[in-house]
Amino acid sequence: MLANLKPQDPDKILMLIEEFKADTRQGKIDLGVGVYKDPQGVTPVMRAVKAAEQRIWDEQTTKAYTGLAGTPEYRAAMAEMVLKDVPADRLASVASVGGTGAIRQGLELARLANPDVTVHVSDPTWPNHLSIMKFMGLPFTQYRYFDNETRGVDFDGMKADIAKAGKGDIVLLHGCCHNPTGANLSMDQWTEVAEILEKSGAVPLIDLAYQGFGDGLQEDAAATRMLASRLPEVLIAASCSKNFGIYRERTGILMALGTDTAARDLAQGSMAFLNRQNFSFPPDHGARVVETILTDAELRADWAAELEEVRNTMLGLRTQLAGELRDLSGSDRFDFIANHRGMFSRLGATPEQVEALKADAAIYMVGDSRLNIAGLNKDTVPVLARAIVDAGI
Ligand code: PMP
Repeated sequence: MLANLKPQDPDKILMLIEEFKADTRQGKIDLGVGVYKDPQGVTPVMRAVKAAEQRIWDEQTTKAYTGLAGTPEYRAAMAEMVLKDVPADRLASVASVGGTGAIRQGLELARLANPDVTVHVSDPTWPNHLSIMKFMGLPFTQYRYFDNETRGVDFDGMKADIAKAGKGDIVLLHGCCHNPTGANLSMDQWTEVAEILEKSGAVPLIDLAYQGFGDGLQEDAAATRMLASRLPEVLIAASCSKNFGIYRERTGILMALGTDTAARDLAQGSMAFLNRQNFSFPPDHGARVVETILTDAELRADWAAELEEVRNTMLGLRTQLAGELRDLSGSDRFDFIANHRGMFSRLGATPEQVEALKADAAIYMVGDSRLNIAGLNKDTVPVLARAIVDAGI
Protein backbone atom coordinates (compact mmCIF):
# COMPACT_ATOMS: atom_id res chain seq x y z
CA MET A 1 0.00 0.00 0.00
CA LEU A 2 2.58 2.55 1.06
CA ALA A 3 4.54 1.94 -2.15
CA ASN A 4 1.62 3.53 -4.01
CA LEU A 5 2.27 6.90 -2.40
CA LYS A 6 3.47 9.69 -4.62
CA PRO A 7 6.33 11.93 -3.46
CA GLN A 8 4.96 15.20 -2.08
CA ASP A 9 6.46 18.52 -3.12
CA PRO A 10 8.79 19.51 -0.28
CA ASP A 11 7.99 22.76 1.54
CA LYS A 12 10.23 25.39 -0.07
CA ILE A 13 10.83 27.32 3.12
CA LEU A 14 11.76 24.20 5.08
CA MET A 15 14.15 23.24 2.27
CA LEU A 16 15.77 26.63 2.53
CA ILE A 17 16.42 26.02 6.25
CA GLU A 18 18.28 22.82 5.40
CA GLU A 19 20.28 24.53 2.69
CA PHE A 20 21.21 27.32 5.09
CA LYS A 21 22.33 24.85 7.76
CA ALA A 22 24.57 23.06 5.26
CA ASP A 23 26.24 26.31 4.11
CA THR A 24 29.68 26.53 5.77
CA ARG A 25 30.40 30.16 4.84
CA GLN A 26 31.19 32.58 7.68
CA GLY A 27 28.72 35.43 8.09
CA LYS A 28 25.84 33.73 6.24
CA ILE A 29 22.49 35.45 6.84
CA ASP A 30 19.14 33.64 7.14
CA LEU A 31 16.19 35.80 6.09
CA GLY A 32 14.05 32.80 5.20
CA VAL A 33 11.92 31.13 7.80
CA GLY A 34 9.15 33.15 9.48
CA VAL A 35 10.13 33.20 13.12
CA TYR A 36 11.12 36.24 15.13
CA LYS A 37 14.78 36.37 16.06
CA ASP A 38 16.30 38.89 18.46
CA PRO A 39 19.51 40.77 17.56
CA GLN A 40 21.52 37.78 18.84
CA GLY A 41 19.68 35.50 16.40
CA VAL A 42 17.70 33.76 19.14
CA THR A 43 13.94 33.11 19.16
CA PRO A 44 13.41 33.74 22.86
CA VAL A 45 10.78 32.40 25.23
CA MET A 46 8.99 35.56 26.35
CA ARG A 47 9.29 36.49 30.04
CA ALA A 48 5.54 36.31 30.68
CA VAL A 49 5.37 32.90 29.00
CA LYS A 50 8.06 31.53 31.35
CA ALA A 51 6.24 33.01 34.35
CA ALA A 52 2.89 31.60 33.23
CA GLU A 53 4.42 28.17 32.64
CA GLN A 54 5.91 28.25 36.13
CA ARG A 55 2.53 29.15 37.57
CA ILE A 56 0.80 26.38 35.63
CA TRP A 57 3.46 23.90 36.78
CA ASP A 58 2.88 24.95 40.41
CA GLU A 59 -0.88 25.00 40.29
CA GLN A 60 -2.06 22.47 37.74
CA THR A 61 -3.45 19.37 39.41
CA THR A 62 -4.73 17.40 36.41
CA LYS A 63 -4.12 16.80 32.75
CA ALA A 64 -7.60 15.40 32.18
CA TYR A 65 -9.37 16.40 28.93
CA THR A 66 -10.77 19.91 28.69
CA GLY A 67 -13.63 20.60 26.25
CA LEU A 68 -13.80 20.02 22.51
CA ALA A 69 -13.79 23.78 22.01
CA GLY A 70 -10.94 24.37 24.49
CA THR A 71 -11.51 26.19 27.77
CA PRO A 72 -14.11 29.00 27.92
CA GLU A 73 -11.54 31.17 29.74
CA TYR A 74 -9.02 30.92 26.88
CA ARG A 75 -11.68 31.64 24.27
CA ALA A 76 -13.01 34.62 26.21
CA ALA A 77 -9.51 36.05 26.71
CA MET A 78 -8.67 35.67 23.02
CA ALA A 79 -11.99 37.15 21.90
CA GLU A 80 -11.27 40.16 24.07
CA MET A 81 -7.72 40.52 22.75
CA VAL A 82 -8.82 40.35 19.12
CA LEU A 83 -12.24 42.01 19.19
CA LYS A 84 -12.12 44.14 22.36
CA ASP A 85 -15.89 44.64 22.50
CA VAL A 86 -17.05 41.06 22.27
CA PRO A 87 -20.50 40.51 20.75
CA ALA A 88 -21.24 37.42 22.87
CA ASP A 89 -24.65 36.92 21.26
CA ARG A 90 -22.99 36.45 17.85
CA LEU A 91 -19.67 34.79 18.66
CA ALA A 92 -18.82 31.10 18.36
CA SER A 93 -15.22 30.00 18.93
CA VAL A 94 -12.99 26.97 19.28
CA ALA A 95 -9.37 26.62 20.28
CA SER A 96 -7.35 25.29 17.35
CA VAL A 97 -4.06 23.67 16.47
CA GLY A 98 -2.20 26.91 15.82
CA GLY A 99 -3.31 29.48 13.29
CA THR A 100 -2.96 26.89 10.54
CA GLY A 101 -5.49 24.65 12.26
CA ALA A 102 -7.88 27.59 12.61
CA ILE A 103 -7.62 28.36 8.89
CA ARG A 104 -8.18 24.72 7.99
CA GLN A 105 -11.23 24.47 10.28
CA GLY A 106 -12.55 27.80 9.01
CA LEU A 107 -12.39 26.54 5.44
CA GLU A 108 -14.04 23.28 6.46
CA LEU A 109 -16.78 25.22 8.24
CA ALA A 110 -17.37 27.34 5.13
CA ARG A 111 -17.68 24.21 3.01
CA LEU A 112 -20.08 22.60 5.50
CA ALA A 113 -22.24 25.71 5.35
CA ASN A 114 -21.93 26.15 1.58
CA PRO A 115 -20.79 23.12 -0.44
CA ASP A 116 -20.44 25.40 -3.51
CA VAL A 117 -18.11 27.84 -1.80
CA THR A 118 -15.26 29.43 -3.73
CA VAL A 119 -12.42 31.00 -1.77
CA HIS A 120 -10.89 34.26 -2.98
CA VAL A 121 -7.33 34.66 -1.79
CA SER A 122 -4.66 37.28 -2.38
CA ASP A 123 -1.99 36.94 -5.05
CA PRO A 124 0.50 36.34 -3.55
CA THR A 125 -0.37 34.80 -0.22
CA TRP A 126 1.13 32.54 2.43
CA PRO A 127 1.77 29.38 0.33
CA ASN A 128 0.10 27.14 2.91
CA HIS A 129 -3.27 28.82 2.19
CA LEU A 130 -3.05 27.50 -1.35
CA SER A 131 -1.74 24.06 -0.51
CA ILE A 132 -4.42 23.48 2.14
CA MET A 133 -7.15 24.43 -0.34
CA LYS A 134 -5.64 22.26 -3.04
CA PHE A 135 -5.44 19.34 -0.61
CA MET A 136 -9.07 19.89 0.42
CA GLY A 137 -10.17 20.13 -3.21
CA LEU A 138 -11.70 23.50 -2.42
CA PRO A 139 -12.24 25.76 -5.43
CA PHE A 140 -10.30 29.01 -5.13
CA THR A 141 -9.28 31.98 -7.18
CA GLN A 142 -6.66 34.67 -6.51
CA TYR A 143 -7.36 38.40 -6.34
CA ARG A 144 -4.77 40.98 -7.36
CA TYR A 145 -2.96 42.35 -4.33
CA PHE A 146 0.66 43.36 -4.86
CA ASP A 147 1.91 46.04 -7.21
CA ASN A 148 5.43 45.00 -8.15
CA GLU A 149 6.27 48.53 -9.29
CA THR A 150 5.39 50.39 -6.10
CA ARG A 151 5.74 47.36 -3.81
CA GLY A 152 2.47 48.55 -2.31
CA VAL A 153 -1.08 47.21 -2.63
CA ASP A 154 -2.72 47.19 -6.06
CA PHE A 155 -5.93 48.39 -4.47
CA ASP A 156 -7.89 49.01 -7.65
CA GLY A 157 -7.08 45.49 -8.81
CA MET A 158 -7.97 44.06 -5.43
CA LYS A 159 -11.32 45.87 -5.30
CA ALA A 160 -12.27 44.79 -8.80
CA ASP A 161 -11.39 41.18 -8.05
CA ILE A 162 -12.96 40.76 -4.62
CA ALA A 163 -16.17 42.32 -5.97
CA LYS A 164 -16.49 39.14 -8.03
CA ALA A 165 -16.93 37.03 -4.87
CA GLY A 166 -20.55 35.99 -4.62
CA LYS A 167 -22.90 35.54 -1.68
CA GLY A 168 -21.63 32.72 0.54
CA ASP A 169 -18.14 32.78 -0.97
CA ILE A 170 -15.13 33.31 1.27
CA VAL A 171 -12.68 36.18 0.87
CA LEU A 172 -9.50 35.27 2.72
CA LEU A 173 -7.87 38.44 4.06
CA HIS A 174 -4.68 39.00 6.06
CA GLY A 175 -5.86 41.06 9.03
CA CYS A 176 -2.49 42.83 9.30
CA CYS A 177 1.17 42.34 8.32
CA HIS A 178 0.49 40.67 4.96
CA ASN A 179 2.63 37.58 4.37
CA PRO A 180 4.68 37.49 2.13
CA THR A 181 4.59 41.08 0.90
CA GLY A 182 4.51 43.33 4.01
CA ALA A 183 2.18 45.67 2.07
CA ASN A 184 -1.06 46.49 3.89
CA LEU A 185 -4.32 48.37 3.44
CA SER A 186 -5.03 51.72 5.09
CA MET A 187 -8.11 51.97 7.29
CA ASP A 188 -9.92 53.87 4.52
CA GLN A 189 -9.18 51.02 2.14
CA TRP A 190 -10.42 48.49 4.68
CA THR A 191 -13.66 50.45 4.85
CA GLU A 192 -14.02 50.13 1.09
CA VAL A 193 -13.43 46.37 1.39
CA ALA A 194 -16.20 46.23 4.01
CA GLU A 195 -18.55 48.06 1.62
CA ILE A 196 -17.82 45.59 -1.18
CA LEU A 197 -18.45 42.61 1.10
CA GLU A 198 -21.61 44.23 2.48
CA LYS A 199 -22.93 44.53 -1.03
CA SER A 200 -22.05 41.02 -2.21
CA GLY A 201 -22.71 38.94 0.90
CA ALA A 202 -19.31 37.26 0.61
CA VAL A 203 -17.88 36.33 3.99
CA PRO A 204 -14.38 37.34 5.07
CA LEU A 205 -12.07 34.78 6.65
CA ILE A 206 -9.53 36.95 8.39
CA ASP A 207 -6.14 35.37 8.98
CA LEU A 208 -4.70 37.23 11.97
CA ALA A 209 -1.27 35.73 12.55
CA TYR A 210 0.72 38.84 13.49
CA GLN A 211 -1.37 40.97 15.87
CA GLY A 212 1.16 43.20 17.65
CA PHE A 213 3.89 42.87 15.00
CA GLY A 214 2.80 45.78 12.79
CA ASP A 215 1.53 49.03 14.30
CA GLY A 216 0.58 47.75 17.78
CA LEU A 217 -1.79 45.29 19.43
CA GLN A 218 -4.85 47.53 19.08
CA GLU A 219 -3.94 49.01 15.69
CA ASP A 220 -3.33 45.60 14.14
CA ALA A 221 -6.78 44.40 15.16
CA ALA A 222 -8.58 47.54 13.99
CA ALA A 223 -9.55 46.19 10.55
CA THR A 224 -10.78 42.92 12.03
CA ARG A 225 -12.86 44.80 14.62
CA MET A 226 -14.36 47.07 11.99
CA LEU A 227 -15.33 44.15 9.74
CA ALA A 228 -16.72 42.26 12.74
CA SER A 229 -18.94 45.17 13.72
CA ARG A 230 -20.17 45.97 10.21
CA LEU A 231 -20.71 42.64 8.51
CA PRO A 232 -23.34 40.06 9.42
CA GLU A 233 -20.93 37.13 9.18
CA VAL A 234 -17.19 37.03 9.75
CA LEU A 235 -14.70 34.21 10.34
CA ILE A 236 -11.43 34.91 12.13
CA ALA A 237 -8.44 32.56 12.38
CA ALA A 238 -6.01 33.97 14.96
CA SER A 239 -2.60 32.56 15.82
CA CYS A 240 -0.65 32.96 19.07
CA SER A 241 2.55 31.59 17.54
CA LYS A 242 4.21 34.91 16.80
CA ASN A 243 2.85 37.39 19.32
CA PHE A 244 3.37 35.02 22.26
CA GLY A 245 6.42 33.36 20.69
CA ILE A 246 4.93 29.90 21.31
CA TYR A 247 5.29 28.53 17.80
CA ARG A 248 5.67 24.87 18.73
CA GLU A 249 2.84 24.84 21.27
CA ARG A 250 0.31 25.08 18.41
CA THR A 251 -2.03 27.69 19.83
CA GLY A 252 -4.74 29.48 17.92
CA ILE A 253 -8.46 30.10 17.74
CA LEU A 254 -11.20 30.04 15.15
CA MET A 255 -13.99 32.53 15.73
CA ALA A 256 -17.23 32.76 13.77
CA LEU A 257 -19.57 35.72 14.09
CA GLY A 258 -23.15 35.07 13.01
CA THR A 259 -26.22 37.23 12.71
CA ASP A 260 -27.93 36.03 15.89
CA THR A 261 -27.78 33.53 18.73
CA ALA A 262 -29.28 30.74 16.60
CA ALA A 263 -26.54 31.12 13.95
CA ARG A 264 -23.94 31.37 16.71
CA ASP A 265 -25.12 28.12 18.29
CA LEU A 266 -25.16 26.29 14.96
CA ALA A 267 -21.63 27.49 14.24
CA GLN A 268 -20.45 26.52 17.73
CA GLY A 269 -21.81 23.01 17.34
CA SER A 270 -20.27 22.56 13.89
CA MET A 271 -16.90 23.91 14.96
CA ALA A 272 -16.75 21.56 17.97
CA PHE A 273 -17.80 18.74 15.62
CA LEU A 274 -14.93 19.61 13.25
CA ASN A 275 -12.45 19.54 16.13
CA ARG A 276 -13.82 16.14 17.12
CA GLN A 277 -13.42 14.73 13.61
CA ASN A 278 -9.95 16.08 13.03
CA PHE A 279 -8.13 15.69 16.35
CA SER A 280 -10.73 15.70 19.13
CA PHE A 281 -9.44 18.01 21.89
CA PRO A 282 -7.25 20.97 20.92
CA PRO A 283 -3.81 21.33 22.54
CA ASP A 284 -4.09 22.86 25.99
CA HIS A 285 -0.68 23.96 27.20
CA GLY A 286 -0.15 26.98 24.94
CA ALA A 287 -3.78 28.03 25.33
CA ARG A 288 -3.44 27.90 29.11
CA VAL A 289 -0.27 29.99 28.95
CA VAL A 290 -2.07 32.60 26.84
CA GLU A 291 -5.11 32.57 29.12
CA THR A 292 -2.86 32.97 32.20
CA ILE A 293 -1.08 35.94 30.67
CA LEU A 294 -4.14 37.73 29.32
CA THR A 295 -6.13 37.40 32.55
CA ASP A 296 -3.36 38.60 34.90
CA ALA A 297 -2.77 42.36 34.80
CA GLU A 298 0.92 42.15 35.66
CA LEU A 299 1.79 39.33 33.25
CA ARG A 300 -0.26 40.95 30.52
CA ALA A 301 1.50 44.29 30.92
CA ASP A 302 4.91 42.59 30.84
CA TRP A 303 3.97 40.56 27.76
CA ALA A 304 2.65 43.63 25.95
CA ALA A 305 5.85 45.53 26.80
CA GLU A 306 8.06 42.73 25.46
CA LEU A 307 5.93 42.47 22.33
CA GLU A 308 6.41 46.21 21.83
CA GLU A 309 10.19 45.71 22.09
CA VAL A 310 9.96 43.03 19.39
CA ARG A 311 7.85 45.28 17.16
CA ASN A 312 10.10 48.28 17.62
CA THR A 313 13.22 46.21 16.95
CA MET A 314 11.76 45.23 13.58
CA LEU A 315 10.70 48.81 12.82
CA GLY A 316 14.20 50.04 13.65
CA LEU A 317 15.71 47.51 11.24
CA ARG A 318 13.26 48.58 8.53
CA THR A 319 14.23 52.24 8.94
CA GLN A 320 17.94 51.41 8.99
CA LEU A 321 17.73 49.20 5.89
CA ALA A 322 15.70 51.73 3.90
CA GLY A 323 18.20 54.44 4.93
CA GLU A 324 21.28 52.39 3.94
CA LEU A 325 19.67 51.55 0.60
CA ARG A 326 18.81 55.19 -0.03
CA ASP A 327 22.46 56.13 0.53
CA LEU A 328 23.93 53.27 -1.50
CA SER A 329 21.51 53.43 -4.43
CA GLY A 330 21.16 57.20 -4.45
CA SER A 331 17.40 56.78 -4.85
CA ASP A 332 14.29 56.39 -2.75
CA ARG A 333 13.11 53.29 -4.53
CA PHE A 334 13.60 51.14 -1.43
CA ASP A 335 11.58 53.37 0.89
CA PHE A 336 8.76 50.82 0.73
CA ILE A 337 10.78 48.72 3.20
CA ALA A 338 10.17 51.35 5.88
CA ASN A 339 6.48 51.54 4.97
CA HIS A 340 5.85 47.79 5.04
CA ARG A 341 4.73 46.24 8.30
CA GLY A 342 5.23 42.93 10.04
CA MET A 343 8.04 40.46 9.80
CA PHE A 344 8.24 40.34 6.01
CA SER A 345 8.90 42.49 2.97
CA ARG A 346 8.82 41.41 -0.61
CA LEU A 347 11.78 43.02 -2.32
CA GLY A 348 10.43 42.55 -5.82
CA ALA A 349 13.66 40.87 -7.01
CA THR A 350 13.77 38.20 -9.72
CA PRO A 351 14.43 34.55 -8.80
CA GLU A 352 17.85 34.95 -10.46
CA GLN A 353 18.68 37.90 -8.21
CA VAL A 354 17.55 35.92 -5.15
CA GLU A 355 19.86 33.08 -6.26
CA ALA A 356 22.72 35.53 -6.77
CA LEU A 357 22.29 36.86 -3.21
CA LYS A 358 22.60 33.30 -1.97
CA ALA A 359 25.54 32.33 -4.20
CA ASP A 360 27.56 35.55 -3.92
CA ALA A 361 26.71 36.86 -0.48
CA ALA A 362 25.38 33.84 1.50
CA ILE A 363 22.12 35.69 2.05
CA TYR A 364 19.11 33.39 2.12
CA MET A 365 15.59 34.58 1.38
CA VAL A 366 12.52 32.87 -0.04
CA GLY A 367 12.53 32.56 -3.86
CA ASP A 368 9.78 35.15 -4.32
CA SER A 369 12.20 37.64 -2.66
CA ARG A 370 10.41 37.65 0.71
CA LEU A 371 12.84 38.62 3.40
CA ASN A 372 12.35 38.20 7.12
CA ILE A 373 13.30 41.53 8.67
CA ALA A 374 13.81 39.83 12.04
CA GLY A 375 16.64 37.78 10.53
CA LEU A 376 18.72 40.99 10.49
CA ASN A 377 20.53 42.98 13.15
CA LYS A 378 22.16 46.38 12.99
CA ASP A 379 25.47 44.86 11.87
CA THR A 380 24.03 42.74 9.06
CA VAL A 381 21.76 45.46 7.63
CA PRO A 382 24.66 47.21 5.82
CA VAL A 383 25.85 43.83 4.47
CA LEU A 384 22.38 43.14 3.03
CA ALA A 385 22.04 46.65 1.62
CA ARG A 386 25.37 46.38 -0.17
CA ALA A 387 24.48 42.93 -1.55
CA ILE A 388 21.08 44.16 -2.81
CA VAL A 389 22.68 47.01 -4.69
CA ASP A 390 25.49 44.78 -6.00
CA ALA A 391 22.91 42.29 -7.28
CA GLY A 392 21.33 45.10 -9.31
CA ILE A 393 17.94 44.86 -7.57
N1 PMP B 1 -1.15 32.67 8.56
C1 PMP B 1 -0.04 33.27 8.14
C2 PMP B 1 -0.17 34.36 7.14
C3 PMP B 1 1.20 32.87 8.62
O1 PMP B 1 2.30 33.48 8.18
C4 PMP B 1 1.27 31.83 9.56
C5 PMP B 1 2.58 31.35 10.10
N2 PMP B 1 3.63 31.26 9.24
C6 PMP B 1 0.07 31.24 9.98
C7 PMP B 1 -1.10 31.69 9.46
C8 PMP B 1 -0.02 30.09 10.94
O2 PMP B 1 0.81 30.02 11.99
P1 PMP B 1 0.75 28.86 13.04
O3 PMP B 1 0.00 27.70 12.50
O4 PMP B 1 2.18 28.53 13.31
O5 PMP B 1 0.06 29.43 14.24
